[in-house]
Amino acid sequence: MVEDQADNRQIIRDMLAGTDYEITEVENGAAFGGRVDIQTQTGEERMLARTTWIMSAIASLLLATGTFPSYAESTSQITKVITLGTRGGPLPTKDRAQSSNLLVVNDTLYLIDAGDGATRRIVQAGYDFRKVGKIFITHAHSDHTAGLATLLVSQWEYQRAEPTDIYGSGVEALLKGALDYLTPNAEIRWAEGKRRAMADTFHAHDVKPGLVYQDANVKVTAVENTHFHFEPGTPPYGKYKSYSYRFETPGRVVLFTGDTGPTDAVTELAKGADLYLTEVTSPEDVVEAYKKNGTWQAKTGAEQEEFLRHMHEEHCTPEDVGKMAAKADVKAIVMTHLGPSVNPNDDYQRFIDAAKKYYSGPITLAKDLMQF
Ligand SMILES: [Zn+2]
Ligand SMILES: [Zn+2]
Repeated sequence: MVEDQADNRQIIRDMLAGTDYEITEVENGAAFGGRVDIQTQTGEERMLARTTWIMSAIASLLLATGTFPSYAESTSQITKVITLGTRGGPLPTKDRAQSSNLLVVNDTLYLIDAGDGATRRIVQAGYDFRKVGKIFITHAHSDHTAGLATLLVSQWEYQRAEPTDIYGSGVEALLKGALDYLTPNAEIRWAEGKRRAMADTFHAHDVKPGLVYQDANVKVTAVENTHFHFEPGTPPYGKYKSYSYRFETPGRVVLFTGDTGPTDAVTELAKGADLYLTEVTSPEDVVEAYKKNGTWQAKTGAEQEEFLRHMHEEHCTPEDVGKMAAKADVKAIVMTHLGPSVNPNDDYQRFIDAAKKYYSGPITLAKDLMQF
């Protein structure tokens, strides 16, 4: 019986070779673990079919030896990325929260962008929102920041004691605004017995490109990208920048493009990254969606023209994504920040097909709460 188990485990190991699964030993038998939700360029259905086949084969073998599988997390995956919100742009839609990602390194939580819905998604992902101590904002567009005040006040209401730091460009103004917005609540809570000033807990740091943060888990480097283009003399000129971030962690490099147009600054920053989490935009799709809800018709001709310029020059088409990823030689692409579409069940598969013309590695279209 013991020999049978050893033989079967070897068979299982052989089956798992080259997959995202690995066998780990537990007290009462064998368990398997690994990433179960990643899609590859071979397509979600093919991956699912392979997963199902592996699972049922393993289950039969383990049942035959009288052992039972239990989920065990892969020990190699100390760095995880969870796509909390995958919608691009400020239009509220029903299935996707706005831009936000959680990076987990050795159980420490780092938040990259805080679009509307971020706090609820952190809870849905199974993490404690009070433990998010470092927040990195790529840029101050509302689809990347509108959930910030909710996260901060939730931490404060539920007694987060340590400071929470926010890094980015324009974040000092964002924090000041959030604290002002929450002042009526804070004064009411104070009268009800709460005795901690919000300003004592939250600290914002407007940072310049370069090394912006480092601890035992992550080294974070930023470059200014081409998402913003302000005319000299206008209020935001010289004041707000849009950043892409490179996170180097033990064993993994993750690149968050934020929103950007095509630029060598980002491809240089992304060089050799294990995971290239990128925005992707189809200007035509967005215009169609705006026509459907009337936003497009409500714009003046000049506004329409400027909007199209912004979408083409300051965002990346799927083809741009493929070219940039190939140039940066990244190991895998995750497409996120998906724009609204007239088709509520849009699978965006055409984005992968377009990017594949230039990039041959795996490409995944993110959904909210996927883990990589
Ligand atoms: Zn955006
Ligand atoms: Zn933006």
